[in-house]
Amino acid sequence: MYLKEIKAYGFKSFADKINIELGKNLNGIVGPNGSGKSNIVDAVRWVLGEQSIKSLRGDSSTDVIFSGSKSRKPLNSATVTLIFDNSDKTIPLDFNEVSIKRTLYRSGDNEYFINNERVRLKDITELLMDTGGSKESFNIISQGKIDEIVLAKPSDRRVIIEEAAGVLKYKKRKEEALRKLERTKQNLIRINDIIQELETNIEPLKKQSEEATLYLNVKDELKNVEIALITKDVETLSFDYKTTKEKIEQITDEITKYSNNITTYDIDIIKAKNKLKEIEDKINITNNEYIELTKKMEQKDADYRLLKERRKYNENNTETDNKILSLKEEVLKNKSILDAYSLELNYLKEEISKTESNINKDVEEYQVTKNKYEQAKNNLSKNEQEIINTKYKIEYLENSINNSNSLPTSVKNILNNKRIDGIHNVVGKLIEFDNQYNLAINTSLMASTNYLVVDNTNIAKTLVKYLKENNLGRTTFYPLDVIKPRYIPDNILNNISNIDGYIDIASNLLKYDLRYDNVIKNLLGNVIITKDIESANEIAKIINNTYKIVTLDGQVINVGGSITGGSALKLSSVISEKHDLEYNKNLFEKLKNNREELEQNIKIIENTLSTIESKIYKNRNILSELNNNYSLKKQNIDNQEIEYNKINQELNDLEAINNPNTDNQEQILLNEYYELKDKVQQIEQELEKLKTNKNNTKQDIEELENLNHQSNNYLSKKQKEIHDLEIKANRMDVRLDNLLLNLSEDYSITFEYAKENYVLDIDETIARSKVNELKNKLKNIGEVNIGAIEEYERVSTRFNFLDSQRNDLENAKKTLLDIINEMDEVMIDKFKTTFEEVKREFKIVFRELFKGGNAEILLTDPDNLLETGVEIKAEPPGKHLQNISLLSGGEKTFTAISLLFAILNVRPVPFCLLDEVEAALDDANVESFCKYLDKYRNTTQFILITHKKKTMEYIDLLYGITMQESGVSKLVSVKLEEKIS
Ligand code: ATP
Repeated sequence: MYLKEIKAYGFKSFADKINIELGKNLNGIVGPNGSGKSNIVDAVRWVLGEQSIKSLRGDSSTDVIFSGSKSRKPLNSATVTLIFDNSDKTIPLDFNEVSIKRTLYRSGDNEYFINNERVRLKDITELLMDTGGSKESFNIISQGKIDEIVLAKPSDRRVIIEEAAGVLKYKKRKEEALRKLERTKQNLIRINDIIQELETNIEPLKKQSEEATLYLNVKDELKNVEIALITKDVETLSFDYKTTKEKIEQITDEITKYSNNITTYDIDIIKAKNKLKEIEDKINITNNEYIELTKKMEQKDADYRLLKERRKYNENNTETDNKILSLKEEVLKNKSILDAYSLELNYLKEEISKTESNINKDVEEYQVTKNKYEQAKNNLSKNEQEIINTKYKIEYLENSINNSNSLPTSVKNILNNKRIDGIHNVVGKLIEFDNQYNLAINTSLMASTNYLVVDNTNIAKTLVKYLKENNLGRTTFYPLDVIKPRYIPDNILNNISNIDGYIDIASNLLKYDLRYDNVIKNLLGNVIITKDIESANEIAKIINNTYKIVTLDGQVINVGGSITGGSALKLSSVISEKHDLEYNKNLFEKLKNNREELEQNIKIIENTLSTIESKIYKNRNILSELNNNYSLKKQNIDNQEIEYNKINQELNDLEAINNPNTDNQEQILLNEYYELKDKVQQIEQELEKLKTNKNNTKQDIEELENLNHQSNNYLSKKQKEIHDLEIKANRMDVRLDNLLLNLSEDYSITFEYAKENYVLDIDETIARSKVNELKNKLKNIGEVNIGAIEEYERVSTRFNFLDSQRNDLENAKKTLLDIINEMDEVMIDKFKTTFEEVKREFKIVFRELFKGGNAEILLTDPDNLLETGVEIKAEPPGKHLQNISLLSGGEKTFTAISLLFAILNVRPVPFCLLDEVEAALDDANVESFCKYLDKYRNTTQFILITHKKKTMEYIDLLYGITMQESGVSKLVSVKLEEKIS
């Protein structure tokens, strides 16, 4: 490799293009002072990337551009090109010739080229680094700089050895590695700071995340078991409830039956008791009759005997006639009294029978009224139960409406918890309509009843974020600022509005605040409502299935003609709750009115009962008085009769005594006696019969009372049973409601959904204890932060990422340190070797050039080969080893040249550009210098700028630089003959 050509244009004094073609060996450039020779050295350094403007003898970078002269204008750019012969491929490019070019513009922009391809300065530096042709090489020595080698500080001087040792590239790499190391360290500090910060957060976050995950897992597990269990409980309870209700009905029937029986028993008992009374009365009468007859019979017997006696002692006596007369009078008197008594007695008898019949009638009426009373009481208790149930339903519905229980969890959560202005409500709660459109509107709206209306899109976005962060599910929002209404064109409406069965556009059937007009019309402004599927079909045909049609019973003809229908749709809770509440409130009022009516009715019946009771009581008193009266009168009549009979007997006896037909009289008496005896016997028999009858009736009463008692016992037992069953049924009803409420409130699902999707696959007892256990677990876990799971995931991902970054950085740091150490070792090794070689050569070259003397280079700090300075010691012949600064100018230059050659001997370079290095030497020394130069023929190309004729003699190719035109350098070739003269 050697420098084949130097081309310059616009560089310093080269206002015209110059092209210096150089030879392989010794080249020389000569010319008068100030003609521009040194500008060539500057040009070469400049192309190779010299950045120090001082060493280019300028103040600013653009100073190198031709600045004009008297006759020439300044130029706008400077360009220098070096062309190297690279046939030996010293430059690691596959070209025999390599050109390196630099251009600088007045703007300060630099351009670099290798073989006319635009490159960076770095590329040029790296390309030449190992060739010995770089700007750092000692092979370019500017004018006056040769002494600097000798005079420089030891630490600066080591650079020459380093350059010769080829360690500069290592040094550069080391510097780069150190910079990288520093950057790595800074990054490590930064990363460690962040990691430390994260470490303080990550532990509590991890704990929170674990707790939240545990909570969610437990909740999920609980959900599966609890829903399945609730479903099972609802089924069992529904069955039990139904069975209990059936049982209640069955017992109610039984109670009615037994109540009727009791009424019958009561009537029978009263009847039997009346019968008993009659029998007892008859026994009394018969007894009296018996006594009477017996007395009469005994009287006849006594009369007979007396007659017989009197006949024996009969004497005619007028006293007797008188007596007979008075007796006859008395008989007549008594007879009239007796007749009056008989009349009275008959009257009393009639009264008694009338009163008894009245009592019987009243007792019967009492029983009928009592039955009515029981029935009314039953109705009242049923009505009260219904009132309680309806009240409970109203409270339940009001609570559900107020707390939005029937809404999906997401919506409920937003409505109950999120305090943001601009949330209106779900669509279903913003509308009202007549109950007859319930099915049609529900079908038209479907799920959108639960969609939320909000002020604007931003609020919707905030709420979506809120639902996402808190894992609360999804919903749809209707921002009022963007929702547009939908319509059915008037011409279509005109065509269908006359069709029989057409009702209206769905949105027209609603009442709502006008603010929501766009939302309602967006949902329902293009839905047609018809009376039935027939009219819907007719309209669908006319409008060619371009709009949705919904019938009052919830059938749908969709856009395009598909039909949706079947059994009744499950109504949206939001809407149906409102209607249900209204229905139940009306029912509640109706039931309350009914209760008043029933209570009124009961009061009326109670009054009737008490009236009948007091009537019976009064009649019983009257009856007992009549009976007493009757007995008294009877006694009187009996006494009167006895008196009458006695007088009559006496009369008869006296008349019989007066009567001559005593025998006949006797016979009559005897007949009467036997007649009476027969009668007595008859009455005895009758009495016997009556007694038996009385006993039987008593027995009947006892039996009836027993039966009545048993029935009453059974009835109260059944009434208690029914009461218990009703309590049980109510409890079951409440429990059922609670279970269904659990499903809708805690899990937002319907029973039907739960039944279809959740099956209890473990034993029920185990499931129940599992639910308890899981609920306790949740209680123990307490409040958790669900967002912590995602946050922990995010933070730990970041932590792991940073941790791996830290590891990478630690590895990089270690690798860099290894590289630095390795480079240090290489540099130390190369520096040491080169130093020793240069030291040896320097000694030899010095002696050769100075023709004797001694010189050496020394290390200022041999233990620190990476930083040690290099000291020069020189002892020209005959002189003692002294301080180098004490040498003469020529000696200094020659010592420096010795060192230059020593280095060239150790490390040859392809070319060497020396600007008047031998200027301070005397002729003899110039001769020695030139001779020495000659040794490098064929190994190193020299370009010497010189004024010395001696030097010129040794040069193979010589150029002259002139400045004929003021301020512009010109190149002239100098013939060899000329150069010598
Ligand atoms: P000596 O033999 O005295 O060392 P020399 O031949 O080496 O002289 P140089 O130092 O190369 O001379 O050239 C200096 C000349 O270049 C000066 O005349 C200076 O005016 C001219 N020069 C330097 N920079 C510019 C520039 N940017 N534009 C025009 N001329 C310049």
